[in-house]
Amino acid sequence: MQSLRYYRELIQKIDAFTDSVVSTYGNRLQCRKGCSSCCILQTIMPVELVPILQWYAAQPELIQNTITHKKSDSCIFLHLDSCIIYPVRPIICRTHGYPVLLHNNVDICPLNDGIQFEPQHILHLENCNTMLAAINILFIKEIHIPALQKERINLQAFFQSPESDILSVVHALKGY
Ligand code: SF4
Repeated sequence: MQSLRYYRELIQKIDAFTDSVVSTYGNRLQCRKGCSSCCILQTIMPVELVPILQWYAAQPELIQNTITHKKSDSCIFLHLDSCIIYPVRPIICRTHGYPVLLHNNVDICPLNDGIQFEPQHILHLENCNTMLAAINILFIKEIHIPALQKERINLQAFFQSPESDILSVVHALKGY
């Protein structure tokens, strides 16, 4: 699917950006395993759910058990201050904490405040969001699975569906 290819390319660009920030500012950044202050994700676009579902399909019991036992308001994928879907996390999770330009202001996690970032290390978040929204529109046109034909998906509601329902979406995705 074209939309999934575009999504993967966007992720590669974002990861290249954050790799460059990390290699430049290193230990001065507080973003690292164990810091979960920004893990409050509730909804995502359906195109972002696809890699998560493919990840889920490989270990449904582990993921279901972790989600089922959640009691806090944090992201359903946060477990013991770690992300259980880290390799397939959505784009917002890949940019959180790092300097982003939003409405002509540089936004940064307070824990990273005080670092002087060079302009090339500031991500233009509105451009990213515009690209992601366009990719998601294309995805909704390309996909014919009703559960994924939505503007946004509530993670808690989706992953608290019966496991058979989730796996049937995974199965349907294999046709794409
Ligand atoms: S998906 Fe992972 S990185 Fe993103 S908010 Fe949830 S736990 Fe945090």
